[in-house]
Amino acid sequence: FAEREGTIWLDGEMVPWGEAKVHVLTHTLHYGLGVFEGVRAYKTPDRGTCIFKLKEHTERLFNSAKILTMDMPYDRETLIEAQRAVVKANELEEAYLRPMCFYGSEGMGLRADGLKTHVMVAAWEWPSYMDPEAVARGIKVRTSSYTRHHVNITMCKAKANGNYINSMLALREALESGAEEALLLDNEGYVAEGSGENVFIVRRGKIHTPELTSCLDGITRATVFAFAEELGLEIIERRITRDEVYVADEAFFTGTAAEVVPIRMLDGREIGSGSRGPITEQMQSMYFDAVRGNRPQNAEWLTPVA
Ligand code: PMP
Repeated sequence: FAEREGTIWLDGEMVPWGEAKVHVLTHTLHYGLGVFEGVRAYKTPDRGTCIFKLKEHTERLFNSAKILTMDMPYDRETLIEAQRAVVKANELEEAYLRPMCFYGSEGMGLRADGLKTHVMVAAWEWPSYMDPEAVARGIKVRTSSYTRHHVNITMCKAKANGNYINSMLALREALESGAEEALLLDNEGYVAEGSGENVFIVRRGKIHTPELTSCLDGITRATVFAFAEELGLEIIERRITRDEVYVADEAFFTGTAAEVVPIRMLDGREIGSGSRGPITEQMQSMYFDAVRGNRPQNAEWLTPVA
C-alpha cells in the first residue's frame, strides 16, 4: 500500500506516494494521540467528482484536535483545498480520503511538549467497505465482548487514532466468530455503535438510535436525520438494549466507509424479515442519490474537486 503511484499531501506539499514517510520515533505511532477523518468522493452526473460533506468532516477534524488539545498548523480552508487537490492530483473519479493530524518525531515524552502537529491527506479508490451483496441483503453482526469506550476514559467525540484499538479488537472478534461486523455496547450495557458505524433500529415505523454519549457524532448519522425529517419520520435518540435490536423490524449501520448497510442478523437472531427492510432501503437510496449528485435539494453537501 505504501508503494504505488500517486501523490499524498504532507505538511503543505504534494509528495510522491512512496516518499510520504515518517520516522520510527513518530510520537503518534507510539502513543496513538492523533486525529483523523474518513471522507468519500463520488462521481456525479453534472459536477464531476464531488467530496461529500467536506466542510462537516473538516470541522470534525478540527473539533477532534481541539478536544485532544492538538495545535493545528493549518486553517480549515487550507485543509479543504488539500483534500480537493489530492483527489484531483490522483485523477480519482471516486475515492476514500484520509486526512490525519499526528505528532512528529521531535520528542518522545508523554508531556508531548515541543512537538509539531503534522498533517497528511491521502486518497485512493476504495469502492465498498462492505461486500456489495451486503448492501442489498444485509450483514451478520455479533454483540462484542469489548465495551465501547467510557466517556471519561477516552474522548468519544474525537475521531482519535488510539480509539480504534477498541474498534479493531471488536471487529476481529466479530470476524472470527463468522459475523461481518461488531455491535459494541456502552459501559452500562446499552447499544453504542459498530466498530466504525453508527446504528439505527426501526420499530413500528419509528426510527431509534442511541444518544451520542459514547458513540461518534457520525456525519452519515446526521444525513439520515435529515432524510427522516424530509420524510416526516421521527427519529428517537435514546438508550437501546441489545434485545430491542433482536425484535426490531429493521436495523442498519451508517458510516462514511460502510455507507448505509442493513443488519440482517444479530447474535444469531434474524432482524425483522431477515433481509433489508423498507425504511433501510429508502435511507440507502436517498443516501446513494445524495452522494452521487442525484438529489438537487442536497447539492450543498457536495464540493466539486475541480
Ligand atoms: N462510529 C465510529 C466509531 C466510526 O469510526 C465512524 C466512522 N467515522 C462512525 C461511527 C460513522 O461516522 P461517519 O458517518 O461520520 O463516517
